[in-house]
Amino acid sequence: MKILTIIGARPQFIKASVVSRAIGQCSQLNEVIVHTGQHFDANMSDVFFEQLEIPRPNYQLSISGGSHGSMTGRMLIEIEKVIEKERPDRLLVYGDTNSTLAGALAAAKLHVPVAHIEAGLRSFNMLMPEEINRILTDQVSDVLYCPTQTATENLRREGFDSKPVEILQVGDVMQDSALLFSQLAVPPADVKSKEGFILATLHRAENTDDPARLASIVNALNDIHTTVAPVLLPLHPRTRGVISKLGIELKVNTIDPVGYLEMIWLLQRCAVVLTDSGGVQKEAFFFGKACVTMRDQTEWVELISCGANILVGADTDSIVEGVRNNYGRLVNDTDNLYGGGQASHRIAQHLSKYSVAVG
Ligand code: UDP
Repeated sequence: MKILTIIGARPQFIKASVVSRAIGQCSQLNEVIVHTGQHFDANMSDVFFEQLEIPRPNYQLSISGGSHGSMTGRMLIEIEKVIEKERPDRLLVYGDTNSTLAGALAAAKLHVPVAHIEAGLRSFNMLMPEEINRILTDQVSDVLYCPTQTATENLRREGFDSKPVEILQVGDVMQDSALLFSQLAVPPADVKSKEGFILATLHRAENTDDPARLASIVNALNDIHTTVAPVLLPLHPRTRGVISKLGIELKVNTIDPVGYLEMIWLLQRCAVVLTDSGGVQKEAFFFGKACVTMRDQTEWVELISCGANILVGADTDSIVEGVRNNYGRLVNDTDNLYGGGQASHRIAQHLSKYSVAVG
């Protein structure tokens, strides 16, 4: 059975590192990988293929930049050509990026069944490009791999139960990655603060594309850096670009985006995590650290319910207070919220069984 996998953005490389590994261990499955090029810098793409031993993509589409419509449209055109050439039995997509949606749409229109990893997640904020991408991808998928109970319930609530699709709660592949690579953590080359630091990430469009929100967040980061503890911020290229364009003064310790093994090292040693990332909210939890999330909603609501994570939006005072209150606080995964590191294995097993069933 031939699986055509579409990846293109940093978190998808990290997820594929465990799923492609599991697929590679199933003799019935033959995976062909397409890299759309959505993320292309050495430190946003190549480093993950090297560090995490992800199979080299069979296709490099080199599509990045431009508006959402332009990027998604160009991907749609090129992925359609690959599908027509490869004639896969199934297409596999991850998460909620433009690469995800382009892949799912191209396949659905050519009647190639689509499996979606991270199905069912919802922020209920339709202003987020990710929310649009994930809802539409779920709609055209026939296998929906849900990471959490909440994701499964979201799909049920939306009526997926009565559709001819399979919904499987497999757990979260990011927990598999965290467990697999945690022993291999390495320090980033240019880290100044070695302990007690606050690990921050900032790249969500709702924060970077709104100058007032961004200024409010940067004020908070600068305040925390001087009054609480050093803030270490591996700076996403999008955020770096906007900050330099707007001439905002960022006084924290910034470094270039780091590889995953360096990121794990930072997660293992930081005193608290401050982020607007989806994946990093969970990784804070996997490494036992409290998380302060600079968003108004999250898809990972179980972390809010169990008290591991708090939402503080973009308000300067709320961010500073959130970090101060959670500095050094450790958290515990007592309820096995994310499947315990078996998700990629379950997905590969399911794809193999499916291949037997369809012949
Ligand atoms: N990450 C990384 N290096 C960095 C920042 C993040 O390897 O400098 C990893 C992080 O550990 C997580 C993933 O990238 O596994 C999250 O990606 P991102 O925050 O870009 O996307 P999101 O999860 O918000 O979709």
